[in-house]
Amino acid sequence: MDSWQRLLARKSEIEDMIRHKQDALYSYQHLANAELSMYDEHPADLASEVYEREKEQGLLEMLEYELEKVNQSLERHQEGRYGICQICGQAIEAARLEALVNTDLCANCAKTHQLSFHRPVEEEALIESGLGVPAERTDISGHEFYDH
Ligand SMILES: [Zn+2]
Repeated sequence: MDSWQRLLARKSEIEDMIRHKQDALYSYQHLANAELSMYDEHPADLASEVYEREKEQGLLEMLEYELEKVNQSLERHQEGRYGICQICGQAIEAARLEALVNTDLCANCAKTHQLSFHRPVEEEALIESGLGVPAERTDISGHEFYDH
C-alpha cells in the first residue's frame, strides 16, 4: 500500500468509527429522553449515563480532529507536499510516516512543537487514568512519535 492508499484507508476507518460513536450518542440521548422520569428515583444511573455520554463525546471529538488531519494530509498529498515537514521542510522519516500516516512534522520538530501543543482534555484524562501511554496514542494527534 502506498501512502495515498494508506491515507484513504485511515480516512474510511475513522469515518466508520465516527458513525459508530454518533450512533452510540444518539442512543444515549434517546434513552435519556425516553426514561427521564425514571431517573428521578435513580440519580446514580443518571450520573453514569451523563459520564458515558461525555466520554463518547470526547472520543468523537478526538476522532473528528484526526479525520481533519487525514484530510489535510490528503490535500498535501495532492499538492505533492506529503511527507515534508511543515516546519523545517525536511523529508519526514519513513518509519514515522508509517506509524503516523497523517503527521506533518518530522520527529525533531514534533518534539519541539509538543512543548506548545495543547492536548485535548480527554487525552490528559486517558494518561492520568493510566489507560494511555505515549506509544499507544500516537495516531491521535500526530505529534507523539519521536523514536525515528
Ligand atoms: Zn521538521
